Amino acid sequence: MINQASIILKNVFGFDQFRESQEAIIDNVLHRRNTLAIMPTGGGKSLCYQIPGGVFDGLTIVISPLISLMQDQVRQLNELAIPACVLNSSLSDSDYQNNLDALKQQQIKLLFLAPETALQSNILDLLTNCDVACIAIDEAHCISEWGHDFRPEYRQLNRLIECFPRAVCIALTATATPRVRDDIKRQLNIVDSSEFISSFDRPNLFIGVVPKDNPYLQCKKFVEQHPEQSGIIYCQSRKGVDELTSRLQQDGFSALPYHAGLSSIKRSEYQERFIRDDVNIIVATIAFGMGINKPDVRYVLHYDLPKNIEGYYQQIGRAGRDGLDADCLLLFGYGDTGKIRFFIDQMSNEQEKRLANVHLNQMLALAEAEDCRRTPLLAYFGEQSARENCANCDNCTGESKEKSDLTVPAQKFLSCVHRTGQRFGSSHIIDVLRGSSAEKVLQNQHNLLSTYNIGNEYNKKQWMTLARQLIQKGLLNQEEQFGGLKLTQKAGDVLKGKVPFFALLQQPVATTSHTSKTLANPGDQQLVAILKADRKRLADEANLPPYAIFSDRTLNEMAYYFPHSEESLLRIHGVGQAKLEKYGTHFLNLITDYCQQHDLQEISNNQSMSQVNASKTTKPTTSAKSIEIAQAFENGQSVMALAETFKVKPNTINNHLYRYVQQGQRFTRPDFLLEQTQLERDKIDQALNAFEQHTAERLKPVYDALNEQVSYDQLHLLRVYFIHTKANA
Ligand code: ADP
Ligand code: ZN
Repeated sequence: MINQASIILKNVFGFDQFRESQEAIIDNVLHRRNTLAIMPTGGGKSLCYQIPGGVFDGLTIVISPLISLMQDQVRQLNELAIPACVLNSSLSDSDYQNNLDALKQQQIKLLFLAPETALQSNILDLLTNCDVACIAIDEAHCISEWGHDFRPEYRQLNRLIECFPRAVCIALTATATPRVRDDIKRQLNIVDSSEFISSFDRPNLFIGVVPKDNPYLQCKKFVEQHPEQSGIIYCQSRKGVDELTSRLQQDGFSALPYHAGLSSIKRSEYQERFIRDDVNIIVATIAFGMGINKPDVRYVLHYDLPKNIEGYYQQIGRAGRDGLDADCLLLFGYGDTGKIRFFIDQMSNEQEKRLANVHLNQMLALAEAEDCRRTPLLAYFGEQSARENCANCDNCTGESKEKSDLTVPAQKFLSCVHRTGQRFGSSHIIDVLRGSSAEKVLQNQHNLLSTYNIGNEYNKKQWMTLARQLIQKGLLNQEEQFGGLKLTQKAGDVLKGKVPFFALLQQPVATTSHTSKTLANPGDQQLVAILKADRKRLADEANLPPYAIFSDRTLNEMAYYFPHSEESLLRIHGVGQAKLEKYGTHFLNLITDYCQQHDLQEISNNQSMSQVNASKTTKPTTSAKSIEIAQAFENGQSVMALAETFKVKPNTINNHLYRYVQQGQRFTRPDFLLEQTQLERDKIDQALNAFEQHTAERLKPVYDALNEQVSYDQLHLLRVYFIHTKANA
């Protein structure tokens, strides 16, 4: 059965591989074992019930607390040609009735319901007449009274489950403490072996913190580094949101505010505009984010300090759900800490106060961390970071160039060098500072010195870093033969407190800056822009968010591999059968047009980069297929007939004819091309004129010039004719 799941993954979703634990979870569900899946936001929870939903014969019910998320999923599933619908009170009467009918006729694979809807007696009656194969409970932590988001309706889902003893149940959540997990398992009859916990690490998120000194300028600079990308800026207060939004707007940025003080109409309007890429930036309080699933948020900026790691993690988690790199930056000011402490002090409940302080301190540990930021972040979830150097946070890549005042530790180190007689190397000095009882320390009676055991605030590695910088900056000289350290004149000034000593306690590690590693295979940016513009147009026409058509990753791969055929397009990430049928021709045209114009050739999916560059310079030759098709066309077979014969889309035939002519080949009766368009003569003349005036290299300008009255398919043929005439004039 897992094979069937893999086929759906590839053919429907267009993905090559399951992500961590998705396969095990899906396999468990397909074996009809109740399952609990704990995965971070963006981890890919939806696939864990969407795919079984596709495999099972019967109906899959998905319980979700948020209407906007349900609608978003239904839109995306329908785009993939998976029959899915939602039943709720926001539907018009006729839509509601249509959905009911479709359900009764067993035409629906996935039904999305809010918990309270699922428990209504009329809905329960309806469902008992359906063959319910699976019940998926999203945001399952809402079941538990111990959770932060308990919902009484969730507690009653048992009643729903009892009605369908044959249905398998899968519960999913991104946040659950061990106590909440146990609660979910008990409520839903899930055995321990059916619990799957994924790592909370989101390796594609770059995590950075900078001291907040000039927040607006810092924010502006950061946003400018992400032109035309979607991003969220979180502020602590509504007032802060409004002020920052208007400043950004004044400076010409495309930004909208979001907070609980705005009317719900405004809030959903702004959210929708963000989702549809009509606006790039949302400036928001923590009220923003729950109801959105936008996969291509490229950055999250924290303008103010979050109160705890839980919230911080949830907010940065909204970036990079598509798995591509995303940038998270926190502006960290001690003033913010003071404000939060002030609020905590106002709390009357002592226990709450203590807890809030603990949470704040955890957040501070992350903000002040000098080692990998993922260490305190993952520690919060009881996880140990897999690597000491994650290579994707400012500390690990050495990007935080902000130096700290290390005068006091420098004085300790220098003074220890002095007291031990300026004969020893760093390692010994550090042993003394950290109170080691190593033989060498005791032998030299260095345990009796005043500098013995006064340096436990830093670990050995950090002291080593400091020592290196003292040498680099000329406060210490290292004797070449034995490595003994000696003080210089400069050291005296620091020791006496005449000059401060600023340095990095974390030495930069030699890695490339994170901005350069956004994509392993960055596509042709000009083509990406063309594809994005058309995606946006198609999305607006279909009243969909652009990501429901194709993801950024998909467009990028198209602009990297330049697929020219349906077969190659299917190899692109995120292109399955349904998307191919709906949008394949359109995007293939854009790609082939662009490639013709820039003399680029398709790159097979397993070619290396060096081959990529080499192939850019070789000229395409007319393929045997193009010649075969062109000759059949010459013999009077219409485009439609050829499409039938070769089992391809008419537009693929057009592409072959185009390539044929591009290579300088001739037709004996080119007028046959014009006949195929079935256009009136004056329309044809207008179009040929438009090619003359604009360009024959791209169809869009001509399409626009003709007020969209001639279709792309027709234009494609007319262009073949146009080029043919020019070449043979
Ligand atoms: P979650 O519900 O856990 O926050 P989603 O189910 O929304 O996450 O998935 C996040 C993104 O990852 C979506 O854009 C989805 O299409 C993509 N995704 C999920 N699984 C895979 C996979 N196996 N391969 C590629 N992309 C995936
Ligand atoms: Zn790190």
